[in-house]
Parts: sequence; structure tokens; C-alpha cells
Amino acid sequence: MGSCKIWDYILVGGGLSASVVTHRLIESNPKLNILVVEAGPDASDRPDIVWPNSTNLVGGDFDWAYNTVDQQWLDNRQVDMPAGKALGGGTVINAGGWVRGDKVDYDLWGSIVDDERWTYEGLLPFMKKSETFWDKRINPTQHGLKGPVSIQSVTSTNREFPLRDHVLRSWGELGLSPLEGLDANAGTPLGIGELQENKKDGRRQIASSVYPLHGATVVTDTLVEKILLERKGGKLRAKGIKLANGTDFRGSNVLLAAGAIRSPQLLMLSGVGPADELAKVGVPVLLDQPAVGKNLSDHGLFAHLWNVKDPSAGWAIGSGNPLFEQEQYGWGGPMDFLTTTDVCKEGLAAAIEEDEGVAPDPETHPLLSGPRAFAEHVFMYAGAADGSKVTFILITLLPTARGSVKLASASISDPPLIDPNFLGSAVDRYVAREALKTQLKFATSTEVGRDILDRELGAPGFDQVFTTNSTDEYIDARLRAGLGTSFHPMGSLAMGSVVDTDLRVKGVEGLRVIDASVFPVPITGHLQVAVYALAEQAAEIISKGA
Ligand SMILES: Cc1cc2nc3c(=O)[nH]c(=O)nc-3n(C[C@H](O)[C@H](O)[C@H](O)COP(=O)(O)OP(=O)(O)OC[C@H]3O[C@@H](n4cnc5c(N)ncnc54)[C@H](O)[C@@H]3O)c2cc1C
Repeated sequence: MGSCKIWDYILVGGGLSASVVTHRLIESNPKLNILVVEAGPDASDRPDIVWPNSTNLVGGDFDWAYNTVDQQWLDNRQVDMPAGKALGGGTVINAGGWVRGDKVDYDLWGSIVDDERWTYEGLLPFMKKSETFWDKRINPTQHGLKGPVSIQSVTSTNREFPLRDHVLRSWGELGLSPLEGLDANAGTPLGIGELQENKKDGRRQIASSVYPLHGATVVTDTLVEKILLERKGGKLRAKGIKLANGTDFRGSNVLLAAGAIRSPQLLMLSGVGPADELAKVGVPVLLDQPAVGKNLSDHGLFAHLWNVKDPSAGWAIGSGNPLFEQEQYGWGGPMDFLTTTDVCKEGLAAAIEEDEGVAPDPETHPLLSGPRAFAEHVFMYAGAADGSKVTFILITLLPTARGSVKLASASISDPPLIDPNFLGSAVDRYVAREALKTQLKFATSTEVGRDILDRELGAPGFDQVFTTNSTDEYIDARLRAGLGTSFHPMGSLAMGSVVDTDLRVKGVEGLRVIDASVFPVPITGHLQVAVYALAEQAAEIISKGA
């Protein structure tokens, strides 16, 4: 592997999107010379990451374990920010939730960049291409049956949790209905859908295993320092990469796939980014591109635990219920449903006015003109080793605040400054509060609340617990003290401003970004589905020579 060789494609990072694109490019032309450089190892044969109850995931051997900068709206806390560091990237340590999000998000993306390929209909063929859905009868126009990623559900794995019907009825009491086929992955997730996961009989599906990289040269445990750019005839062009160990590789095309945290860092270290930010750390500016590293968003996650009235009733994992001894109960998350909700538009309009300074037009404002997937609710039948507790999780799916990725130094060895700006807008604070109130109603005044649950556990530093009567001030304080990442950073090299709709970095030839950095708007899914679809479409665009 001499450094004089000119590779057809060099992939920076060997994560989810890199695996898909590499696999598909070689499939379309086996003669291509492709180099994949991944900072982490190949962990695909590690038994301690394969099963849902594996011990080596967040905080383990394959986690970059980043921290955010102080979060102004979270009592100035720094928040842990895990990210996968291994071949397969996030798919090595992620939770495996398979959640597509709302058609409306994708359509907004397509309309912002004025390109039908990035609308829901434009991406649907690629969503289908990536997956093998377990049942051809459920929403058949929406699902693929021959893709590399196998999808399972709670019922397809024969897990009959004892609280299932109680939970369905309780959401019903709050006016929420089951989606067709309990399938939230058909473009319209508002309502109750069954948990779907990209696991095969419980086994983790690492992107680089289900999209094998045979035919490519894969270098692991190797950090890329920057993309080598040269100016010729007034044009800036990528000519290869430089590793942190000093080695150069030359390539005709560089595909940046280091994820939404590291891709903007690498671009800035290469001289493309906001000139003032680069100058601060002494990186020579080759192209002043103020949008690099901006537009970062992430879904927030907030959890609260409740005691069950009768732990011996066997509702939760750990309770001694012999049901949970059956093998399949270890194959996926201990829950039946993901429930997705909108928020009351009246309060939302007031929050928008606070953020935007003018009263929004309810007919045309994208958050008001129709239903939106603002919040996801998870009721987990687990919370303590003895089965005495259950857990509610709230995921804020549609943040309007935007954060940033900035350089901490001119060295790739220093992680960048990550600012997701959690709860950084009046809208985000309103949505989190209202969505949490929905959970408190569920936990106190529905069938589950009345018959199953006792009281909330509270949190360190608070002398009250959640009740039906919790005030807005108390709810806000708990959110500030407890909200963290849902592990879905995105948007830091947004399509439209940094890359064009063929994923080319504007102003630089021979360089594309193919990962979660390019989403111009938040996608209200858990990102894997969207990143797989993005990468499938990227491979097609690239192999067609666009
Ligand atoms: C803890 C956790 C839980 C998650 N749970 C879910 C879930 O349940 N459902 C879901 O849909 N999504 C989940 N996600 C998110 C999902 O995994 C990511 O959105 C997805 O992996 C992003 O794909 P990507 O290709 O953009 O980046 P990644 O998959 O992160 O790949 C980037 C790769 O680049 C490598 N890299 C970075 N910098 C360099 C460098 N300088 N040199 C060489 N290599 C480099 C990294 O090591 C990594 O392998 C989770 C993520 C995490 C971290």
C-alpha cells in the first residue's frame, strides 16, 4: 500500500455511511480502488457488543466519549456525547432503534434544497433498498424486503410483555391511536407504533458487516488528520488525505464520512470553514465558508423512573416473572411501543413569537401549518435490578435551536468544541415541558397510572417528585438538570449551504460529504434509517458519475 498510489475513492471514517457507500460502489464497479480509513478497530467479532444487554457500548472500548461545552439552558452543565469509534461507527454501540421519522421533515429538506431526490418520496426507494422488513403485509408500499439490514419488532420476536394492553389503553385515554399495523415507519409516525429494531433475532447488525467491505482496502486504528487540498488554476481540489502519523494518501475523490462531529472538524483543519474560527487556532484559510460547523442539532433525551405498586406482579424485567427468562426477551428493548406526539399549537405559536420576534402565521409557519412529530415517548418495563421500577423516556425530536462544532485547537488529537445548544429556544423549552406533562398525565391519571404505578423517584438535588400537580417551574428545573443527548448529532455541514445536492463540498472539487452532517433540517427519526437512505442515494449519485 504505497502512498504514491492514486485511489479512486478515499473514505474518511469507516462508519455507517462509509460502509454503505463503499459496498455499493464496489458492487457497481468491482475494479474501483477504494481506501477506507477508520480511527477505531474492527470490533465485529466482539461478543460484548452483539446483544442488547451487552456491556461494552456507551462508555466502553468503542466510544469516542465526547463532552459538550457548557450548555447554557441546562444549568451550564456539560453533557456526555457518546459516538461510535470502530468499523461500522455508531452501529457498533447504538441501541438499534429503527425509526424513520416524519415524511414532513424530508419534504422540508427537499424543498429547502429544491431537489426532489431529498424529499420523502425521493428517499423512500433507498429506505426500502436498505431494509428487510419482517412482514410483507404491513404497509407493503413503504417497506423493503431484500435489503442488507434486517428489521425485527416486538411481536416478530414473540415478546409478549404483560403491560402491553394496559399501555395501549392508557395512551388511548390520552387520545392517541395505534398506527396502521402499529408501524410508525411508514412516513406518518404520530400515534402509537411498535418498537422496531435493526437486529436479527436480537443480534446487532454492524453496518460494515451487513454491507461488507470486500474489495476495498480497509485501514483501521488510524486517525485521519486532514484532507489535502491544492489550488490549481484558481480552483480548490482535494488530492488526498493526511494521517495523524504523517502518511499521505492520494486519491481522485475524497468522501468525508467521519460523522456530524468529526467531519466538520476535519474540513476546518483542512482549511475550509469560518475564516475567523480557523484563524483563532492558527489553521491557514483556503476557503472562507462560514456555514461549516453551524446548524448542529441533536435530539434531547430525558428519563424519569417510577416505582410500581406491586413489584411481585411481574410487570418489569427483574421482577422474577418466569416469562422474562425466555431467550427472546433478551433480543430487544424492554418496551412495546414508541408513541409520537405533536404539541398544542396555541402555546407553540407564543413560543415561536418569543424566538422570532413576530407573531407567526399559523397557515404558513412550518411548525404550525400541520401536525409535526415533536416528541417521542417510551415506557420501558425496566428501571431496577429487582423489577420494582419502570422508566419513562422523552425524546425531543424537532429542536429549533441550532448549535455548532468549532475547533478547540489545530490538532486532530483534540476533539472539537461541541455545542448542541440543548433547549436553546423558547420552542424547544415549551415542547419539552408540554411533552413531559403528557407523560405525567400518563403516569398519574390513566389505567397504568392508577393501577400499576406508585410514585416517581425524583432526582438528586430536588426535594419534590413529579406529580399531576407539578408546576412549570419544577418541570423546567428537572429538564435543565436531567436532559442529555439522544445520540443523534446532525446537520453540521448542511446541504444547501456547505454541500450541494450531489453532496459535493461547494467550492472544492473532488470532495463530498456523505454522512449525518448534511441534513439541513432535523429528521425526527433516530437517524439510522435516514443515514442509511442518504448513503444509499449517495452511492447511486456517485456511481452514476454526477
Ligand atoms: C450510543 C448511541 C446510540 C444510538 N442509538 C441509535 C438508535 O437506537 N437508533 C438509531 O437510528 N440511531 C442511533 N444512534 C445514531 C446512529 O448510530 C448515527 O446517527 C449513525 O451511526 C451516524 O452515521 P454516520 O455515518 O454519520 O457516522 P458514524 O456511524 O458515527 O461514523 C463515523 C466514523 O468515522 C470515524 N472517524 C471519525 N473521525 C475520524 C478520523 N479523524 N479519522 C478516521 N476515522 C474517523 C469514527 O470512528 C466512526 O467510525 C446512536 C448513536 C450512539 C452513539
